[in-house]
Amino acid sequence: MAIINFIKRIMLQSKLKKAAQAILKNHSLLICSGSGFTADCQLDGESPSYEGHHVPVFRGTRGLWREHPALRNQMVTFDNLQEHSFFTDNPHKYWFVYGDLFEKLQRAEPHQGYTDLANLIKLSGKKDKHFVYHDGVDKLYQESGRFDVNKLVQAKGSVMDWQCKKCSLLLEDVADNGDSRSFDFGLDRINGLAQGVPTCH
Ligand SMILES: [Zn+2]
Repeated sequence: MAIINFIKRIMLQSKLKKAAQAILKNHSLLICSGSGFTADCQLDGESPSYEGHHVPVFRGTRGLWREHPALRNQMVTFDNLQEHSFFTDNPHKYWFVYGDLFEKLQRAEPHQGYTDLANLIKLSGKKDKHFVYHDGVDKLYQESGRFDVNKLVQAKGSVMDWQCKKCSLLLEDVADNGDSRSFDFGLDRINGLAQGVPTCH
């Protein structure tokens, strides 16, 4: 077993060396990440493996149902959540999923990987020649305070920013004291519903 671990360590070192050489050799650096990177963040200082204390990753309907069993009973699929008609017809179900994600992301703390990536950009000398492309819907790159936001692209926007498409009001406009972080979605986990649906009228 010790020999296998030794070989694995040597192979990993070899791969890391090749990666470092490739980064140094090339002109620019593009860092791509997704919700899997976010999922390793701790909530309220708890280990992400602790049940209920992690940033959920919905890998399709099965992932959604594993996270929210109440939606399985109602046969709400991952595809349903992407439909505008589902959002308008079932706002309490829609906001249950995204309100829960919103609340968890508020409690998430950037992990060591953010510091490591920021150091990699600095050490590689690519501060002016890099971009970060993030597929997740969080704002943890910004919250870590270690990245140039002008070099950050969020492909899907952020679940922390909401705006009414009719009147352009923002979530903070309808939250108490103008603070979107204080918005109470009133999550009913038994029935998979949000009692506190944001509304501008
Ligand atoms: Zn409106």
